[in-house]
Amino acid sequence: MNKRGHVLNAVLLAIGLGFVLEPAGDLETLRTIAAVFVPLVLGALFPDVDTHFGKHRKTLHNLLVLGVVLAYPLYFANLRWVWLGVVTHYVLDILGTTRGIALLYPLWDEEFGFPLGVSVDSTYANVMMLAVTGFELVIAAGIVHVLPPYLPPEVASVLGL
Ligand SMILES: [Zn+2]
Repeated sequence: MNKRGHVLNAVLLAIGLGFVLEPAGDLETLRTIAAVFVPLVLGALFPDVDTHFGKHRKTLHNLLVLGVVLAYPLYFANLRWVWLGVVTHYVLDILGTTRGIALLYPLWDEEFGFPLGVSVDSTYANVMMLAVTGFELVIAAGIVHVLPPYLPPEVASVLGL
């Protein structure tokens, strides 16, 4: 997916997540959208920094980087929600494109993708981005409304649940 697709995905996900977390559609929903909007967009843009520094779809497209971003809210009490932007970037690259990403880099160079993805410059790229965003929102709703009783309180707190 190109930068435009990742930004649109993050923007739509932030709006949808606002309603998943605060479904009333009131001022608190707007406040939640504002709280997640910038961190999600920044996180969604971060992995493609490796187009200029490192190997694209490897250096910043792996589970090690996701672990580091996930650790920031735990150890430094900042960058909350950036991890979700990175996750949505990975999901869009894996499900929405033909190439995939090297999730296990630097241990393994192989890129993992999904057979239904489209090329980055396809006329269906936006449709694929919307489908992936809808899928992500369904998963987010399940995580927010079904999973919390099964999580340790510290994990739920870091995830913002
Ligand atoms: Zn990418």
